[in-house]
Amino acid sequence: MLRFAPSPTGDMHIGNLRVALFNSLLSRRRNEPLIVRIEDTDKERNIEGKDKEILEILDLFGIEYKDVIYQSGNLRFHRAMAIQLLQDKKAFNCFCTPEELDRKRELAKARHKPFRYDDTCTHLPPEATIDNENPFTVRLKRPEAPIVVHDIIKGEATFDPEDIDSFIIMRAEKYPTYNFACAVDDMLADISLVIRGEDHFSNTPKQIAVRNALGYDKQIEYAHLPIILNEEGKKMSKRDNASSVKWMLSEGFLPAAVANYLVLIGNKTPQEIFTMDEAVEWFDLENISRAPARFDIEKLRFINREHLKRMEDKELSRYVGFADDAIGKLAKLYLEEASTTKELKAKIAAIFAEKSVPDEFKESAEIKAVIKTAPFFETFDALKRHIVDTTGIKGKPLFKSLRILLTGAEHGPDLDAVYTHIKHYLGEIVK
Ligand code: GLU
Repeated sequence: MLRFAPSPTGDMHIGNLRVALFNSLLSRRRNEPLIVRIEDTDKERNIEGKDKEILEILDLFGIEYKDVIYQSGNLRFHRAMAIQLLQDKKAFNCFCTPEELDRKRELAKARHKPFRYDDTCTHLPPEATIDNENPFTVRLKRPEAPIVVHDIIKGEATFDPEDIDSFIIMRAEKYPTYNFACAVDDMLADISLVIRGEDHFSNTPKQIAVRNALGYDKQIEYAHLPIILNEEGKKMSKRDNASSVKWMLSEGFLPAAVANYLVLIGNKTPQEIFTMDEAVEWFDLENISRAPARFDIEKLRFINREHLKRMEDKELSRYVGFADDAIGKLAKLYLEEASTTKELKAKIAAIFAEKSVPDEFKESAEIKAVIKTAPFFETFDALKRHIVDTTGIKGKPLFKSLRILLTGAEHGPDLDAVYTHIKHYLGEIVK
């Protein structure tokens, strides 16, 4: 079983989408189901509706999952396991106040030392905890031996007990911390492989420590994906528009192209343009680079254009607001100058819009009048001949006016080719 575990705390980031895509590819390759776990235990940071939005995005990207579970639904298990750990003396109640801990944290900082829990409450006698009415947290006792993490992408890393530390597993409000809930949930769901962002790498030994303390000995495999950098080489943040999946979609990037791009970067792939169904055939985590991937919007534009070229005409037509093949074919002519459905839509809209013709195209009024009363012509040549014969206008003035009247732009693809796809719409285009 694999899992994708997003927090419903903001817009979905492309890094999260990349994690979801990798999970989906691996689940399909291994023939193991994928579950979505909405990590909603941090009540203050949850945003209403973000869970639905995440699921909608997964659907849009064709990511299939067996089940959706909400982490908050496992609260009784988190509490039961915490009690178990207390009974087994693998965990202890900690009465240190946030103020005391902050003071010690400051002190460590002043000494340029990392803050570590100083065992104030680790060995309290039972009566000291029973009689104590102050709020308390529950901490897991630091492990006795180092924990080695084997990561498919990052390799092996050893974490010392001091660095894992006696960390908090239940907060004073008796809700689990992320590391505890995550470790328990992965165990309950019988997860075999965790694929997530590199920012969680240092959490992994803590999560392993929780499961070790609970006596769970199944080894979970890990793969931590390197972060995605922006074009300046900095970690992509909310301030980078392109970090938001919603923004990408609203800009007219196709889900198939975004998925292609996110699987391509930092990877060795047999070809550059592919679908997820194709990637299932060869995808291998071993080929993922350890180095951060760098986001390049021009490359994404190129990939989007390639997917647009391969799209069925009728489908493309729907993307630009029409329903027939001809408009899909027409849109494809614009792929030299446009690379997103939003840009294509604007090109097609300009063709059908009321046109304002600049004064310099003084012949256009006469040409327009002729087109409006002309019979249907199968070819652009025949239409041109008819206009020349009726008005005597030819050469550059004829072409420039025709381009404006037929496409609403002064430049663009070959008019002959454009005409092939718009000839049945002339009544709507030249009004
Ligand atoms: N909820 C975490 C996040 O969105 C992911 C945790 C995990 O995959 O273990 O960053």
